[in-house]
Amino acid sequence: MLLLFAGVIAAAIALQMTLMRFAPEGLGRVIQGDEQQYQRAYQRSSLDTLSIKLGEMQARVQRLDALGGRLVKLTGMKPAEFQFDQPPAQGGPLLLLNNSQMTEVDLARQLESLTRLVDDRADKLMALETLLMQNQLSKGLLPSSAPVNEGFYTSNFGWRVDPFTGKTSMHEGVDFMAEEGTAIFASAGGVVVYADTQSQYGNMVEVDHGNDIVTRYAHASRMWVKVGQVVRRGDKIAEVGSTGRSTGNHLHFEVRYKGMAQNPGRFLKNAAG
Ligand SMILES: [Zn+2]
Repeated sequence: MLLLFAGVIAAAIALQMTLMRFAPEGLGRVIQGDEQQYQRAYQRSSLDTLSIKLGEMQARVQRLDALGGRLVKLTGMKPAEFQFDQPPAQGGPLLLLNNSQMTEVDLARQLESLTRLVDDRADKLMALETLLMQNQLSKGLLPSSAPVNEGFYTSNFGWRVDPFTGKTSMHEGVDFMAEEGTAIFASAGGVVVYADTQSQYGNMVEVDHGNDIVTRYAHASRMWVKVGQVVRRGDKIAEVGSTGRSTGNHLHFEVRYKGMAQNPGRFLKNAAG
């Protein structure tokens, strides 16, 4: 019995020796195969974790796109310039992933595509921020405050019969009927570019608000500012009078864009003031 057992063991050892001698590579493959299987399983679970993360990031980018789209609408800009729902020009289409079937190559490609997408959205959002800031700035510099607090406003911008010549002529501003000495305020912040006496406008202050917008305050009795002075919205810059080509005490107020007279009523918040 013992002999038989020893014989079986000897035979088994001999068989294994034989196997190892004649098929050592095959046996090696079996042993390595276990290790590879383990590694593959480990890689599979890592890949799955990464691809789930990737999917979450893609979903976040989509939410950012929706936010960007809403911001573009709010600013009233042309949506064509800020297409948040489009992939960047050089990027491939954004594929939504089937997480369980991702390979390393797929993952790398998706990551690269996502990186390009995020770069593109960062550029667009930064450009949008700049535009919004400019928008806010230029709103602050628009002549929307009434240049006088008291007095009677006549919205007489446009063609009218000239009180001096009796002929029809263009009235390039609006008139505020007010007592002599009534304070005249800057309609928006800016820089004084003219403060002098002129035959037509009399004592006139001109304020440059940037963005090609200029306001004029004419027929003043007194001027309170000098050329080059920075004024804020509401600063007192002159007093109502009747200097120059004027038939009585009033403020002649003009808004010019690129040198062209605009209807100030379009800018004034409270035009009936
Ligand atoms: Zn006038």
